[in-house]
Amino acid sequence: MENSKFFTFVTEKNPNFSLGDDGYLKDFFSRPEAKLNADETKVWHSIDGFISNRDIEIRHPSALKHLVKFHDKGWCEFIEPHFPIARKSVLVVEPHMDDAAFSVGGLMLARRNECRFTILSMTGVSNYTEGMGFSTPMLFPTTTVSRLRNAESALMARMIGGEHLSFSMPDAPLRYADLNKNSSWSIEWFIQHSLAIEAFIKHRASLDERCIIEKLIADFIEKNKYEEVWLPMGLGWHSDHELTRDAWLNMLGQCAILNSSNVYLYNDVPYINEYPLHCEQIIDAFNKHDGCLHSVEYEISSAMEEKKRIVGIYRSQFSPLDILPRVEYAARSKSSSFYQETLHRIVRMPSKINFLNFYSRAQNVKLLEGNAEKILTKYHKSKRVRLFVGMPFGRTSEDLLLILQAFPDANVEVRVASNAWDEVKDYVHPRIFLGKVSSKLNFASLLFAALLSPWKGPVLVIVGERARRIMNAICRRKVFNDSHFIAADTASDLATVLLGRQERGER
Ligand SMILES: [Zn+2]
Repeated sequence: MENSKFFTFVTEKNPNFSLGDDGYLKDFFSRPEAKLNADETKVWHSIDGFISNRDIEIRHPSALKHLVKFHDKGWCEFIEPHFPIARKSVLVVEPHMDDAAFSVGGLMLARRNECRFTILSMTGVSNYTEGMGFSTPMLFPTTTVSRLRNAESALMARMIGGEHLSFSMPDAPLRYADLNKNSSWSIEWFIQHSLAIEAFIKHRASLDERCIIEKLIADFIEKNKYEEVWLPMGLGWHSDHELTRDAWLNMLGQCAILNSSNVYLYNDVPYINEYPLHCEQIIDAFNKHDGCLHSVEYEISSAMEEKKRIVGIYRSQFSPLDILPRVEYAARSKSSSFYQETLHRIVRMPSKINFLNFYSRAQNVKLLEGNAEKILTKYHKSKRVRLFVGMPFGRTSEDLLLILQAFPDANVEVRVASNAWDEVKDYVHPRIFLGKVSSKLNFASLLFAALLSPWKGPVLVIVGERARRIMNAICRRKVFNDSHFIAADTASDLATVLLGRQERGER
């Protein structure tokens, strides 16, 4: 950057870094980055996010080289002081406080002089950090993490001359804790529940959650108007992404946003890397009911270096070494010769929205639905149901209630593998009988004994995709027949099937 331009810029610290009394600059997880010398310390303390680099240089004549070093290390960012006043107003909705930068950061940077971007995070309350995945997990208070994540997003918004807003909606891990009436997180509790939290994150959200978010959206769009609205496609397995997409699409169908704004969907990064077919599935779901999406790939090569820069702000969530290759891979064009981001303009909304058609596991659910239908109907009045739970539900009470409703006269004997036990152990219902199975071998033995038993009542099995495939393969060899058992990959798949039947009045 030429000096004259550099001096007009304002420097802002990345909120993840702070200088300790011992002279070490540390990240949020208290990992030391470097020890600052006396000169560097003075310059670091003079960075307040408001005064220009010229003013810092006037106070500290050696400031220039230190500021450049801080910037090269990613400890601070240089902010352009002025943007054109007349710019197009664009709302970019993101599920979490980082998705917009990862997914459409290049486009926002490339268009920042023509567009004033407002980034709206649906989940503004979070205790999620990269530290949860450390070999010794680190937990922080929700207020601390929420403040930090909002500050990261505010810094990113400043770099594109925009603003950041967030709803008060808690993210999925916090909603899991709420559902389990346990808001006091501890390391022990987190370790016990980490698999169940993961299952919750991958479980389809409830109608209640969608209603809460739709109310927030309705209030927001009543008060705020934008020329363009960019929404996430909701690609992949994260229920917050799915919830954001479904709630916004539902509101587009109900409100008049499409009359006053051009609305686009964007590919969620990095999920697009693993789920390219999900994108095609959503386009098909639009086409199926007379909707129309027009997809355009925009080259962002000239903004790619700056995009990497803004992606690197979110240190509380990812190490740049982890996230940058994934963001880069997602933006690579098919020929690998340039970088791009895609926007899908909503030309026409579908005449009817079937949310299952947008769901990433729709194929699995439809397959399960086909297999389960006859058994659910035949055994509806059964007095006894056996349920084998080999992996956490994520939503124990809601999922078990659906099973109780599907078999209204039955007592349900539940055999639970030890990895799923902590989530269910406190559940109480007069028709549910829980039993813990101590080892994987015992679980498999009990399951096979139930399937080979002369008793041919309904057996429900939730065991994950791999084990379910093995079971299907065994069935094909006629070791036991599958006329009385339903094998689901996940509790979410089974719950989706049962809920679908209820909604169609088939239970
Ligand atoms: Zn996200």
